Amino acid sequence: TKIKIGWNLDNSYARLPKLFFTKLNPTPVRSPKLIVLNYPLATSLGLNVKALQSNDGVAVLAGNRTPEGSFMLAQAYAGHQFGHFTMLGDGRTLLIGEQISPLGERFDIQLKGSGKTPYSRQGDGRAVLGPMLREYIISEAMHALGVATTRSLAVVTTGESVIRETALPGAILTRVAASHLRVGTFQYASKWGTVEDLRSLADYTLQRHFPNIEVDENRYLFLLREAIKRQAVLIAKWQLVGFIHGVMNTDNMALSGETIDYGPCAFMDVYDPATVFSSIDTHGRYAYGNQPNIAAWNLARLAETLLPLLHDKQEKAVKKAQEAISDFAELYHHNWLAGMRAKLGIFNEEIEDESLVDNLLIMMQKYRADYTNTFRALTFDKPEDTDLFGNTDFAQWYELWQARLGRQQETKDSSHQLMRNSNPAIIPRNHRVEEALEAVAKQGDFSVMERLLDVLSRPYAHSPEQADYSTLPELSSCPYRTFCGT
Ligand code: AMP
Ligand code: MG
Ligand code: MG
Repeated sequence: TKIKIGWNLDNSYARLPKLFFTKLNPTPVRSPKLIVLNYPLATSLGLNVKALQSNDGVAVLAGNRTPEGSFMLAQAYAGHQFGHFTMLGDGRTLLIGEQISPLGERFDIQLKGSGKTPYSRQGDGRAVLGPMLREYIISEAMHALGVATTRSLAVVTTGESVIRETALPGAILTRVAASHLRVGTFQYASKWGTVEDLRSLADYTLQRHFPNIEVDENRYLFLLREAIKRQAVLIAKWQLVGFIHGVMNTDNMALSGETIDYGPCAFMDVYDPATVFSSIDTHGRYAYGNQPNIAAWNLARLAETLLPLLHDKQEKAVKKAQEAISDFAELYHHNWLAGMRAKLGIFNEEIEDESLVDNLLIMMQKYRADYTNTFRALTFDKPEDTDLFGNTDFAQWYELWQARLGRQQETKDSSHQLMRNSNPAIIPRNHRVEEALEAVAKQGDFSVMERLLDVLSRPYAHSPEQADYSTLPELSSCPYRTFCGT
C-alpha cells in the first residue's frame, strides 16, 4: 500500500467574495525533479517525507497534480510599487490550499513559478532555479535567526527552460506562510470592492491571525494596531540582523508580520545605513536605514483602506487611524533598542544606552566595520578582532561599555550568554550564497548548498566550523547587485 503524503487541506480563502481570487490549475511541467526538501518543516506540517519524494509527491510540488479534495487559486491584490499604485495579483504563484498541521495551525502552501494566471500581465508565470534556491536559503536562514518569515518546503526543477536574458533552468518553489494576506490585498479591496467586501477581508484576517481576541474597541482598529505591532517587531529584527528586504512594496508586506517575497534581498556586510543591493532601487528608497520609514509609510496605506470600517464619520476614522500609525515609530524604536541592548549584553535599562549604541554604529560606519563580525567579536570580548580596534574613540567607547556592564547585577558570563544568543555567528553572506548557487548551476553540485544550509540553521551555535563562513568577500570593483522577478 502507498504511504499517504498527509495533505490536510482547507480552502478558506475561497470562501471570501469572488473578486479576491481566481480558481485555476497550474500549468504542468515536462519532467519534474525534486532538488531540495525541508524535512523538519514537512514533518511539522504533518507531511510524510518519503511520500513527498515519491512521484505522486513531486507531481504536486511541480504543479502536475492537485492534492485530492483541494483546488488551487491565484489571489488578487494591488500595491504601491516604489510608491506607484497598481493592480497586481499572483502572477506566478498558486495557493494549493491551507494545510492544517498536527498542532491545528493553518499554513498557506503555495507554488511559486507554476505558470501564468489572469494576473500575470507580461510575465511568463515561471521562475528560475537560482533565485528559487536563493529564496530557500535566505528564508530558512531568517527562520533560524529568529525572524518571522515565510518558509521554504521544497524546490523542484521543471525540466523546462525559462527565457530571461538567456535560457535558464526553470524551477518551482513551495512556499509556506501563515497567510498571504498583504497590505496590497486591502488596497485591492478598498479600490475595487464594496465596503462589504472590505469588511469580509478584514473579518477573515482577524479570524485567521487573531482568532481568540475579545476587543472592547472597534475590531478593525484592533486589526490595524496589531498589524502595526507585528511590523514594528519584524522591522526591528531586520535591522538587528542587518537584513535588507530590497523591495518593500505594499504588496510585499504581510499582515501576519512575516517577512515575505525574497527577491532582491541581501544582508549588509559593512555597516552603512545607505546600503542598497537591488539593481532597480536607484534612489535608495528601500535602503537599510530607510526600512523603518517605509514600513510606516506602508502601514499608513493600510490604515487608509480601513477608514470606512473605523468610524461612520470620516473625520473620526482619520483621527483613529492617525493615532495608530503614530505609535509605530515608538513601538519600532522600543523593539530595536531592546534588541541592541541584548546585542551588547545589557539586561537593565539606562537612559544613556541609546547613545552607547549610536556611538558604536557611528564608528562602525566611519571605520567601515563589518556589522555581524563586530558584534561577534564583542560577544567574545575580542575588541582586537574588530575593524574599530586601534582608534582612540573606540578605546573610549569600550571603556564606557565595560563600565556599563559593571552597572548591572548579572555576571559577565550572563552577558556573554545573552550576546551569544543575540549575535549570529553567521548570516547568509552574499558571496557564500552565490558560491552555493554557482556550484549547482555549473557542476550540478548540491553539496556546497547543503553545507551552507546546515551551518545557517544554527546561527547562534558559534561552533568552530562556522568560522570559515564569517570571512568577508574579497574586495571587488563591482558592487554586489540583486535582481527582482527572475
Ligand atoms: P514581486 O516583485 O515578486 O512582488 O512581483 C510583483 C508582481 O509581479 C506580482 O504580482 C508577481 O506575481 C508578478 N510577477 C513576478 N514575476 C512574474 C512572472 N515571471 N510572471 C508573471 N508574473 C510575475
Ligand atoms: Mg511580491
Ligand atoms: Mg518576488
